[in-house]
Amino acid sequence: MGREEQLRRLEERIRNCKKCPLGELRTNAVPGAGNYSSKIMFVGEAPGYWEDQKGLPFVGRAGRILDELLESIGLDREDVYITNIVKCRPPNNRDPTEEEIRTCSPYLDLQIDIIRPRVIVPLGRHSMAYILKKFGFNVEPISRIHGKMFEARTLFGRIIIMPMYHPAVALYRPAMKEELEKDFRKIRELIDGIS
Ligand code: SF4
Ligand code: URA
Repeated sequence: MGREEQLRRLEERIRNCKKCPLGELRTNAVPGAGNYSSKIMFVGEAPGYWEDQKGLPFVGRAGRILDELLESIGLDREDVYITNIVKCRPPNNRDPTEEEIRTCSPYLDLQIDIIRPRVIVPLGRHSMAYILKKFGFNVEPISRIHGKMFEARTLFGRIIIMPMYHPAVALYRPAMKEELEKDFRKIRELIDGIS
């Protein structure tokens, strides 16, 4: 089975998943979207209101910021794959619980194994914590390690993790937009360095 078929089947499994209580509350699960052959994968936290309505990641206000940030480095959604740690919306946009993350994250693990990205960009501290732990790194405050490079070895080769602030922070703290833009320029450099 090719990569495309594997991902399509996995996304279908996620759309029908009822492994945790969030599955009963959702309108739509949000498996992820974008380029299945992308070298770069963005990982947010969990769907919000609009993502749940549409079944697509980052289509609300935080999504608009993410689009601007991508555009600022010459990328659009067709160039990247975007997903979340937790695939169904937590009620009132509360943080996902440890238990929900534990139940849902095997889907993310599979997406990473199938897509085999060269760069993973966790968006926000929950995603950062999950991805860093997964690849054997210590978790530190995001204020200290955003925009920094963590290099991990995997069965399919070298992978670079570069955590960023969650784009939603720019909605209530506009100065953070510049910080995010600065970090995104580092993604551009990383991609340019990958053959
Ligand atoms: Fe399944 Fe994840 Fe949705 Fe829970 S959040 S029902 S584990 S897809
Ligand atoms: N915030 C996230 O973390 N993910 C989304 O898909 C939308 C908003």
